[in-house]
Amino acid sequence: MPIEILPDYVVGQIAAGEVIERPASVVKELLENSLDAGAMSVHIAVNGAGRRLIRISDNGSGIPAAEVETAFRRHATSKLRSIDDLNSLTTLGFRGEALSSIAAVSRLTVTTRHRKESAGTQIRIEGGEVKQRQSVGAPIGTVISAENLFFNTPARLKFLKKENTEKRHIVSLVTRYAMAYPHVRFILEQDGREAFRSSGSGQLADVVVQALGLDTFKHLVEVFAEDTAHDDRPAVRVYGYTSNPELHRSDRSSITLFVNGRWIQDASLTYGVIQAYHTLLVGGRYPIAILMIDLPRDEVDVNVHPTKAEVRFRDPNAVFATVQRAVRQSVISIPQPNGQRVTRLMPAFREGADLQLDMAFDVEEDIQVKLPLRHSGQDTVDPTEIPVGPEAPLKPRTLPLLRVVGQVGARYIVAEGPSGMYLIDQHAAHQRLLYEQYREAVSLKRVAMKQIASPQTIDLPASEARLVEQHLPLLQSLGFVLEVFGPNTFRILAVPEMLSSIEPQDIVLHVGDELKTGSHDLTDRLIQYICRQVAVKAGHILNQDEMQSLVRQLERCESPRFSPDGQATLIHLSREQLAREFERVRS
Ligand code: ADP
Ligand code: MG
Repeated sequence: MPIEILPDYVVGQIAAGEVIERPASVVKELLENSLDAGAMSVHIAVNGAGRRLIRISDNGSGIPAAEVETAFRRHATSKLRSIDDLNSLTTLGFRGEALSSIAAVSRLTVTTRHRKESAGTQIRIEGGEVKQRQSVGAPIGTVISAENLFFNTPARLKFLKKENTEKRHIVSLVTRYAMAYPHVRFILEQDGREAFRSSGSGQLADVVVQALGLDTFKHLVEVFAEDTAHDDRPAVRVYGYTSNPELHRSDRSSITLFVNGRWIQDASLTYGVIQAYHTLLVGGRYPIAILMIDLPRDEVDVNVHPTKAEVRFRDPNAVFATVQRAVRQSVISIPQPNGQRVTRLMPAFREGADLQLDMAFDVEEDIQVKLPLRHSGQDTVDPTEIPVGPEAPLKPRTLPLLRVVGQVGARYIVAEGPSGMYLIDQHAAHQRLLYEQYREAVSLKRVAMKQIASPQTIDLPASEARLVEQHLPLLQSLGFVLEVFGPNTFRILAVPEMLSSIEPQDIVLHVGDELKTGSHDLTDRLIQYICRQVAVKAGHILNQDEMQSLVRQLERCESPRFSPDGQATLIHLSREQLAREFERVRS
């Protein structure tokens, strides 16, 4: 092809690709505009995960009739006049790209009335061209409807994720903005159904409850820290909520950061939040956090990323330090169930001290918990015990017959076999046998359930509620009978019997989180998770019968040597090895 200048509409479509990656980007840009216009109420309606329709109505300032067409031209903005203005920017937008980009890839209608004008204006734009303009009666504010998103960019259309994924992106986007702007009332409707609503009360706590549900909120602690400017360091203020170490997630996506009201991604600050939980969260688990970070405008460069999702700090270390300290302070001040504070665990930051302190901690807490291990077969299939007897022949032995000698450190079982000594990790071993039994019960559709006498309800984060709803049959196959009880509320009617004393809500909260990470091996992941929760913990003193029962069952597990997540369940020291050790010591 010879070199030619591209026509305007093609330039527009290409440029749109930068800003408008997916339907959620349209929602983001439009609701940022509403916030910039000072709206106190923003109503978002989305159909077909945003591909059929995205309509955002606000009660902000409106656009003057004379400027409506201009607003849809590229690089048209009322928010900045020169590059210096970037240093004192008080708005979320500044590039004048969003409206033109959205108009380039959709069929768009805007109805707006400026607060100083008595009539409204409506224009229709298709593929970037104004098709119609009229004066209309309208309330002060702006309504923008984008229909048939990406209708003229088939390549982009093809790359969109499944409807449910796109819907979830939109819900989590809106709930996040609602948390950052608690004085603004947000309503999100998806396919005519209300998916989220915040009250606009101005209280962050209210929105966090509305966004994440009361059950998650109960596990959150307030964060607040303020560092005044000193030497060359800027003033930084951090506030919000972060989870106590009992509530954690499978990925970092529940760590939400806002800088001066702008939702940002920042790997380093995210890491700072995670680090604040050092030794309090197991590896691979992440907290939930909603943090607002405020600092002087000229300390932040917001003009570094096409979708403005990243910012650059003049003094990143100062911001990091304040964030990390703020979160850490909150986390270590949480009272523990046994009345102690996590502070007691802090010496565990010292290398090597972990084990001892951990154990002292657990023993006090767990000592009265009944161990869900049983000896004999029963009539019903109990997931903690597949029946033995004529109808279920004993599984083949995979370990030799072991004699339990005792327990060490409230954590390991010492046993003797024909060829030496075995040290068995009680938690890992119990996980293994629960896992095999539960998995078998699920595949035979014979999971023992217990009904909950007075059903409990649980509020889920809006983004997870839809997922849980779609997976109700799967959850039922695992023994969880839930019923939809409100927009984001479920009633728990029955749970697997093996949960014994564990709070069903805590498990269901986690299920929502696990569903978000995709459908890959979902059943197995959930089974593993539940077994991990149910399995006897380290620090729990076992009596002889309980140890014997655990070991008997482990001897007939398919894979007795590893827990489902790959931890060793036992260490075997053969007679030869023992003899060699003594030999070595003697010489
Ligand atoms: P930017 O937000 O970067 O200025 P946009 O393309 O998003 O660029 O919007 C262009 C202009 O249109 C804005 O500067 C603003 O003046 C006007 N505008 C857009 N949306 C609204 C709205 N909801 N209410 C009032 N004015 C709006
Ligand atoms: Mg904008």
